[in-house]
Amino acid sequence: MKRTLTVCPYCGTGCMFYLVSDNGRLIGVEASSTHPVSRGGLCVKGWNAFAFVHHPDRLTTPLIRKNGTLQAATWDEALELVVERLAQVQQRHGRDALMFASSAKATNEENYLLMKLARAVFQTNNIDHCARLCHSSTVTGLAETFGSGAMTNAISCIDETDVIFVIGSNTTEQHPLIGSRIMNAVRSGTRLLVADNRRIRLARHADLHLRHRNGSDVPLLCGMMQVIIAEGLADREFIATRTENYEALAESVAPWTPERSAAETGLEAADIIAAARLYAGAKRAMIFYSMGITQHSHGVDNVRCIASLAMLTGNIGRPGTGVNPLRGQNNVQGGCDMGALPDLYSGYQKVSEPLHRQRFAAAWGVPALPDTPGLPLTRAMDAASDGKLFAMFIMGENPLLSDPDQHHARKALENLELLVVQDIFLTETAALAHIVLPAACYAEKEGTFTNTERRVQRVRKAVEPPGEARSDQDIICAIAQRAGYDGMTYADASEVMDEIATLTPHYGGISYERLDPHGIPWPCPTPDHPGTPILHQQRFTRGQGHFSPVSHRLPQEQPDADYPLVLTTGRTYFHWHTGTMTRRTHLLDREEPGSFLELHPDDATRLSIRHRERLLVISRRGSIQTEARVTSMVIPGVVFMPFHFAEGAANRLTNNVLDPESSIPEFKVCAVRLEKLP
Ligand code: SF4
Repeated sequence: MKRTLTVCPYCGTGCMFYLVSDNGRLIGVEASSTHPVSRGGLCVKGWNAFAFVHHPDRLTTPLIRKNGTLQAATWDEALELVVERLAQVQQRHGRDALMFASSAKATNEENYLLMKLARAVFQTNNIDHCARLCHSSTVTGLAETFGSGAMTNAISCIDETDVIFVIGSNTTEQHPLIGSRIMNAVRSGTRLLVADNRRIRLARHADLHLRHRNGSDVPLLCGMMQVIIAEGLADREFIATRTENYEALAESVAPWTPERSAAETGLEAADIIAAARLYAGAKRAMIFYSMGITQHSHGVDNVRCIASLAMLTGNIGRPGTGVNPLRGQNNVQGGCDMGALPDLYSGYQKVSEPLHRQRFAAAWGVPALPDTPGLPLTRAMDAASDGKLFAMFIMGENPLLSDPDQHHARKALENLELLVVQDIFLTETAALAHIVLPAACYAEKEGTFTNTERRVQRVRKAVEPPGEARSDQDIICAIAQRAGYDGMTYADASEVMDEIATLTPHYGGISYERLDPHGIPWPCPTPDHPGTPILHQQRFTRGQGHFSPVSHRLPQEQPDADYPLVLTTGRTYFHWHTGTMTRRTHLLDREEPGSFLELHPDDATRLSIRHRERLLVISRRGSIQTEARVTSMVIPGVVFMPFHFAEGAANRLTNNVLDPESSIPEFKVCAVRLEKLP
């Protein structure tokens, strides 16, 4: 038997484990007892992360659509056709007629290479990835306030903090090892404040649980800040020495008295005061948040408020403090770091900045690079739907299930002249493609993932890919070569990382030799730099921390007589994203086999809906059938659905309205009604 140390392919916690293989087949997983995050533990997804790898549904040959059906083809045929058809689309409609969608499941090296393919070879900045759907609000909001859109502190800081404030994150289900670390800290005396209107598991252990209305985070956070300033709990020295624009913030939150905040949030004024005192009264306090904060039409404003709250109390730049956005997928941090974003190269270097363009063009051996930021993924789907974008190359994502308003997503994808999908399974999106390229999964290739605490870690090959499947790196480089570009030939993935290090300042000191055994947190600017577990210690990345005042905006869709309930969506413990891997893992599928909707007993009684009864959920965009779960997990007037399940796809219902700054969709709030099925 062989043991191969690698990184979990599911959430951004980034646990490392050994894949155990025998005779070229994976037979199990062994946790790494010395890894600083997993520490010998894994969640149920990690323990089962080997099970989908040899699933019979794996794609094993390229497929080309002929006479309406996908038929097996050779790599030569498929790659030739991809290059020829992409070129044709550009000739007919211009270079920005293409969109490249990269993947938070792929390695850093693969994200960097797809970004390079789009920009150097096809001369378009139309490259983005699913961070657009989860944490683009964080990237925008924290870049403005701190200068860096990443988790500020290490996960291990949980062990040395006094108060943990969790808002908009169901941590025990989405980031289970971080959730259990928080629970352990609470058992040891750390105080816990939870703001989430679902009674999530952490809430049961909280000193204070705030069940505020969906979309009322700004009133809650502004109310807390008003109390902190009014009661003299702000850290005046930190504000004076480390920040700017405090007066504007103070003026903006002054009207948010606890009473006004209570009226907007549905909370008691006393609870808002208690929350403010609990957070501001701690010597060290950490904030954790996730998509309950970001996935709103005012997601960037939510993030701004969180950054202001931390700066107001001096809870930044020290152990046991910080603003800690929990990144969703295994490598969504890396996808952003690698510049799989329409306006940024790797290392968050702007494409609009001539010096950055010249530097990348020189390194890549091309005369020039496009200077106009490209389309965010969500805007690209709109453009495709409107007949203004003509081809998409999608690597390892399934937007038909993960994008809001499935009808809109399907229309967009079906409108395209060319859809190429590179993936490990024939996903719902791949089934619509003209060309499908079979890819290797995480267990079948070399590379790195960057976890939510910015730790760059090695992914290692344990087994061979099935059939003719190839790594994303191989496929991208083969496309570049066929397109006539000779600047993408690499002996292995480590050479790609060496190139990344030369062009990406905060990865400047990272090389494969240095990543053993458990990675390095960036910034790591030089080969002798140990990495940086805590950001903004002496100064913020942008210099002074910037207070950004906000105005309160309601969610775009409010309940009314026709659609009287608020639907909010999320994930469950047993599944991941669109279920591509977890639904092909027997144990996980057995535990949570299908779609469901949580509704409060009061609503169930009023609507005469029984527990486990099948029902119809209807929004302005469509309807789905699902099963009722009557539970006080949710508050009256609010229903919750996970979005993993194709046969009860919550995103057929969700609203495609976007935050104007980050272009993130408002997944967390839309209006629905329920009907009993005959
Ligand atoms: Fe994998 Fe996340 Fe579970 Fe760790 S907590 S084993 S990274 S899914």
